[in-house]
Amino acid sequence: MRKEFLSYNPPTIGEAERAGVMETLCTPWVTTGPKTVAFEGELKTYLGAPAVVALNSCTAGLHVGLVALGVGPGDEVIVPAMTFCATANVVEHVGARPILVDVCPDTLTMDPEAVRAAITPRTKVLLPVHYGGHPAHLDELDALAAQHGLFLLEDAAHAISTRYKGRLIGSRANLAAFSFYATKNLTTVEGGCLTGEQSLVDKSRIIGHHGMNRDAWKRFDRSGSWYYEVVLPGFKYNMTDMQAAIGLAQLKRLGSFQARRREVVARYEAGFKDLTALELPVELPWAHSSWHLYVIRLRLEQLRIDRNTFIDELKSRNIGTSVHYLPVHMHPYYRDKYGYRAEDLPVAADAYSRMLSLPLHAALTDEDVDDVIQAVRELILSNLA
Ligand SMILES: *Cc1c(COP(=O)(O)O)cnc(C)c1O
Repeated sequence: MRKEFLSYNPPTIGEAERAGVMETLCTPWVTTGPKTVAFEGELKTYLGAPAVVALNSCTAGLHVGLVALGVGPGDEVIVPAMTFCATANVVEHVGARPILVDVCPDTLTMDPEAVRAAITPRTKVLLPVHYGGHPAHLDELDALAAQHGLFLLEDAAHAISTRYKGRLIGSRANLAAFSFYATKNLTTVEGGCLTGEQSLVDKSRIIGHHGMNRDAWKRFDRSGSWYYEVVLPGFKYNMTDMQAAIGLAQLKRLGSFQARRREVVARYEAGFKDLTALELPVELPWAHSSWHLYVIRLRLEQLRIDRNTFIDELKSRNIGTSVHYLPVHMHPYYRDKYGYRAEDLPVAADAYSRMLSLPLHAALTDEDVDDVIQAVRELILSNLA
């Protein structure tokens, strides 16, 4: 058995990130300044984005995105049930109603047919999630958005380096919000960004910075002046240069991080493919996943062990795992406010009952991966029904 506990996804922070932080601390700009501007520029180039604003979280990006799109009371936003709570919480923040829909059984991304059925005259935005790094069905969602005059706002928290039919998520004109939280494929410890067409991103930048109508940090620069005006009551969502310094270092390493993630995924795939009691994650032919998560589902009818016990047994073998996610409609706030039952969104509820996320990050060694494979195999083979 493995001697040291293996966490499921710690951040991969190295000398370059530490040096960037120390260097930034020796300059006058520790909060939003030249490093943030540079990070936005590098992200724009990497993603092929029309425009980028760096923010202090993906949640902030989704929130200002909804405000920029003019979403408010009386509006409905269609959100997949299988996501992190923030995707729905931001809809509540603007006083609109999240309409939770079911997901596709294979990718666990928003089901376009469920979206079609959920559209009403009040629908304003479709908010797909690229779950686990697998792209959502954008062509189908685009068609529905065009037909009904809706906006698309992508929750791209998992999707840095994800491609839909060859094209990077974040390169489109509609808004997409990325997360640089500590567990994500690229981290600034906390942080995020919003991409999209220039006018929407400019508006979002103002909304995310107190509603001030100019780059506030330039106020304190010799080239700028002290004058600014508030054009709306905005939020305080700016990224700091401390975070951007980490992001600049991480972006240089992203290619190698992603290559390693794919190797780990291939090793898992080879290690598990004969186990019919496991349902493995997919990458559809038109998709290029960022492999943010490696989510396996237990085929419970073939096993004498449930998901929670499976997780406990892996933990006792020093393998850390997690669950992504308790579906939004099963959280007490949403369940009670809107009267959802678990079985109203059966694909999400069923997936939740039998899913777990195995360790997946760029610093895993082949030995780490083999330890996980061995522990999972042993548990499955000793618990066949
Ligand atoms: C992590 C995450 C978020 C929130 O990201 P923050 O940067 O922590 O605000 C939103 N949606 C999904 C799907 C996430 O996984």
